Amino acid sequence: MSANPRRTALNSIVGIQPRATSDSFLDQSLTDLFGINVFGDRAMRERLPEAAYDSLRETIETGKPLDAEIADLVANAMKEWAVERGATHFTHWFQPMTGLTAEKHDSFLKFSSKGILLEFSGRELIKGEPDASSFPSGGLRSTFEARGYTAWDPTSPAFIREGVNGALLCIPTAFCSWTGEALDKKTPLLRSEHALSRAAVELLHLLGDEETRAVWSTAGPEQEFFLIDRNYFLARPDLVATGRTLLGARPPKGQELEDHYFGSMPPRILACLQEVERELWKLGVPLKTRHNEVAPSQYELAPIYERSTLASDHNMLAMEILRQVAQRHGLVCLLHEKPFAGINGSGKHNNWSMQTSQGENLLEPGHTPAENARFMLVLTAVIRAVDLHADLLRISVARAGNDHRLGANEAPPAIISIYLGDELDRICRTLMGEDLPEAAGLARNMELGVSSLPPLPRDLTDRNRTSPFAFTGNKFEFRAVGASQSVADCNKVLNTIVAESLQHLRNELEKRMAETTLEKAIQDVVRENLRSHYRVVFNGNNYSEEWVREAERRGLANLRNTPEAIAMYASEKNVALFESQGVLTRTEVESRGTIMYETYAKAIAIEAQACLSIATTCVLPSAIRQQEEMARSLSLTRENTDLDVSAQEELLGRLTSLVNELIIANRELQISQEEAERKVEDHAGKAAFYRDEVLPAMARVRTACDELETIVDDAAWTLPRYSEMLFVH
Ligand code: ADP
Ligand code: MG
Repeated sequence: MSANPRRTALNSIVGIQPRATSDSFLDQSLTDLFGINVFGDRAMRERLPEAAYDSLRETIETGKPLDAEIADLVANAMKEWAVERGATHFTHWFQPMTGLTAEKHDSFLKFSSKGILLEFSGRELIKGEPDASSFPSGGLRSTFEARGYTAWDPTSPAFIREGVNGALLCIPTAFCSWTGEALDKKTPLLRSEHALSRAAVELLHLLGDEETRAVWSTAGPEQEFFLIDRNYFLARPDLVATGRTLLGARPPKGQELEDHYFGSMPPRILACLQEVERELWKLGVPLKTRHNEVAPSQYELAPIYERSTLASDHNMLAMEILRQVAQRHGLVCLLHEKPFAGINGSGKHNNWSMQTSQGENLLEPGHTPAENARFMLVLTAVIRAVDLHADLLRISVARAGNDHRLGANEAPPAIISIYLGDELDRICRTLMGEDLPEAAGLARNMELGVSSLPPLPRDLTDRNRTSPFAFTGNKFEFRAVGASQSVADCNKVLNTIVAESLQHLRNELEKRMAETTLEKAIQDVVRENLRSHYRVVFNGNNYSEEWVREAERRGLANLRNTPEAIAMYASEKNVALFESQGVLTRTEVESRGTIMYETYAKAIAIEAQACLSIATTCVLPSAIRQQEEMARSLSLTRENTDLDVSAQEELLGRLTSLVNELIIANRELQISQEEAERKVEDHAGKAAFYRDEVLPAMARVRTACDELETIVDDAAWTLPRYSEMLFVH
């Protein structure tokens, strides 16, 4: 018999040692190392004439277009900086709707009559023209020209990626069709930042703040992931093809003991993460925290928050570097939302707030009555936004992988609600005029802008971990994001819906101010809007059955899976919102909906193929050999003894019926997938068919395989087991 891939994998792991990094900057101090590969503020100030530097800063802060002359100066300085660091090529680095990053490398070489030069012009910096025709466009391509262009996003600095044979200058960009439709995740995020800034600045001006020139959203995405040995990965065709295990019996020990969370890190993992951190620090990614997560072999890295456009790019880089460095350490980083059934999945907690150009956090409860009034207005805007557009937040995290998490008892449910905590809840209720028996420390007729709020405890140790959208002292934490997703999606939605609410509150205030004082107007607007939208606030246990019923009673949406969520995307309400805020046009919304349906169906189609193949070529052969052996042993016993063989018969009977079940389940899976591809033409119908027919067919294959795994000879089982992948490293 040929070698057993599982045995080979297990044997290769014995004796693997932590790997020392071969970083070329090993002797640099951490403070010098940070950002060494970024053409950031320090490099710009050193290398640009003062006027050019000032003009570029203005562009970065206010979005003012960069003029051509300055662009040439910046491009040249950038090229010289990059070439000194070994760069031979540059690329516009962008985020098409695949959810990954994309790049096309061009060298700096210029072949001219004067000989060979290294050149990089302002035009090349600002605009690139990759062929757009092979990226998902959700139908935009058939109506518009196939070409696309990329445009530099100066809020995100250029950086260098080192390779063993040379370096690459990466210019973070937005990616649009030739007629201006967004083809990526960055463009709408940038547009939403613009909408948010405009709305927030106008509100602040009305409140008497003349200083603030811009407001941007801030994000700190905490990233969860699994690291397992690469030898296992290569012996699991399902992991290779889909990023998750499609079968595998539950390990005798799972995460019941809860002994992994915050436990000490295995040396090999630590070595890997240390290298990941060094690489990311060099790229200016402000990683701060690392720890073990709840599930075995699961970990988390968290950065300090940044402007959300930059945080989003940095998170994409973090995922990429995690994958690459893990490979160097003989590991694989699994970013799938649910790599192992029955074991906690991976998410990304997106911490979100808003910051003014004066450096103030708009979700920071203040110390003065005026600051408190501002805080309560902004908080009310967020509550109103989430109540009106919970569907959009849900849609921003909808994808096949995340369906395995949301609603299960580990991640927030698919019902979007807000957790405020007891203190803030009491303040809101008092402001709404509720008569609270024990509103300790709160004046019954608290007046915004006049009386002070009691200080909110910052250390919310009892904070509610089950809420999808929790206020955590001076920011909101959106916990439903999938581990592999770009946070551009959810931050785009947060910015847009909050922009619309800020605008709405501002208009209401202005109307009232004709008749009354600012304080009274704020008081009324906050009270009325809280009353209308407070149903979205829920401080209890989001995992409970009662909440599902209670939420239904309150009229909150429960979009249980991805196709259900996508169906709400291009509603008139949502199109009107995105258009009014200048974030997406109707065409763009509709094409994005199409892409989401296609991506969902494709993901499950690939899983179905992989499932079929692994069940047929890895599980069945071992099971049938086992059957043969048992049958032989049974007939030998019968021939040579008069022992009672009923127990043996029973076992063989179970094995035989499992083999039959598996063959039938395989056939059904194949038929249902063929039907999905053949019969169903529209995107929504196809996605629903995959959800309703193909996924359950895969589950039946899995059930048979997982029981077979507990019967078949261990020496003949060829797929690394859960108990090995998760616990032996
Ligand atoms: P934890 O939630 O684990 O207690 P912290 O509250 O310190 O930890 O922060 C968690 C994440 O929230 C970090 O990434 C942090 O940078 C981020 N964060 C803190 N303040 C803000 C803010 N104003 N805007 C966005 N993210 C923030
Ligand atoms: Mg957290």
